Amino acid sequence: MTGIARSIVLTIGDELLLGRTLDSNSAWLADRLSMLGAPVGRMGTIGDVEEDVADAVRDARSRAALVVTTGGLGPTADDRTLAGVAAATAGRVPDAEIPNPRGVEPARWYEPELDTGALLVLPGPPREMTALFEASVPRIRASLGDRLRTVRTRTIATTGIPESRLAPKIQPLVDGVDGVDVAFLPDLHGVDLRLRVQGSSEREATRLLDAAESAIADVVRPFRLTAPSGDVVEALTDALLARGWTLALGESCTGGGIGERMTVRAGASRVFLGGVVAYSNEAKQVLLGVSAATLEEHGAVSEPVAASMAEGAVRAFAADCGLGITGIAGPGGGSEEKPVGTVCYAAATPEGVVVTTGRFRGDRDAVRRRSGQAALVQLLRLVERAP
Ligand code: AMP
Ligand code: MG
Repeated sequence: MTGIARSIVLTIGDELLLGRTLDSNSAWLADRLSMLGAPVGRMGTIGDVEEDVADAVRDARSRAALVVTTGGLGPTADDRTLAGVAAATAGRVPDAEIPNPRGVEPARWYEPELDTGALLVLPGPPREMTALFEASVPRIRASLGDRLRTVRTRTIATTGIPESRLAPKIQPLVDGVDGVDVAFLPDLHGVDLRLRVQGSSEREATRLLDAAESAIADVVRPFRLTAPSGDVVEALTDALLARGWTLALGESCTGGGIGERMTVRAGASRVFLGGVVAYSNEAKQVLLGVSAATLEEHGAVSEPVAASMAEGAVRAFAADCGLGITGIAGPGGGSEEKPVGTVCYAAATPEGVVVTTGRFRGDRDAVRRRSGQAALVQLLRLVERAP
């Protein structure tokens, strides 16, 4: 058992195999073990069967520097983990018991041997498991010591570019920095880049992350969201605050979803005045002052209407900036000229009005979220660039 420490996580319990309990322990442990420097190489789930537990523990200890089990420790007859571990260790007494701050069952710790990894046996209830794992970290460090690598990650949030276009630009640049990997984590609001290094020290890890970040800086800059949360709303709120500007919304297809996002964070009232959900043509006219002629001539989903909604929101709330959005979220209502997913969104600032037509993929929910995000990003970039 030499070289970089790898670990194996075994979750034990019939309820996991029956699909009644979602195995959150594996994911939690995988994250913590990777941060600790003993990344998980395998995971497995085993029922409450003594021989199965014994086989799995024996096999895992022959493959990995560290094996962590969870579950099956209770006092009831259905919990077979201790019996299985006793069989796998030929009845050896644990080298340490770590008291449980949130329950009764302690963690059991077995030191590594020549061809056998260390073993940490934890209870199943997540709040006990997590507390006991943290309490066991000093043991793991003392035992695996210099075989643990310092793993550090850094997340760079981007928006406005799909993974399929971003990855080919970024991957070769990160490949050029030894010891750094990148993962692309997309959701409906954008793609997070997660840089990950394994260094021999904290300083080396930081140096490598800095090198990777500067290698991709030019490519990422137009799409980057620099707010700590990686959320466009936080970036926009900060940018508006910096200029002393306020914001109002005129929303149609997003139905107030942008307003909802604007108000998630405390302190929104410093920049956000309010919004109008104007779904019908009448509401667009009466509440946002969109003219009947504009609606008649261009249709409700059109750039002139989106622009007029943004300007109407500015007027209605006496705001500095306005955002207007109107589109076809689907599944019905599309046409040849304006298919489902067509959304027009406008940003009004004291510098003028900019309006864009986007075609957004996905179902109704995805179209609403993606277009709302695009509308916020458009406004953010204008506010950031305003003189
Ligand atoms: P056990 O120690 O196997 O009797 O587990 C006790 C309780 O912990 C179970 O009833 C579950 O609620 C929870 N639990 C056990 N294993 C897991 C797991 N892998 N992920 C999440 N919860 C778990
Ligand atoms: Mg059980």
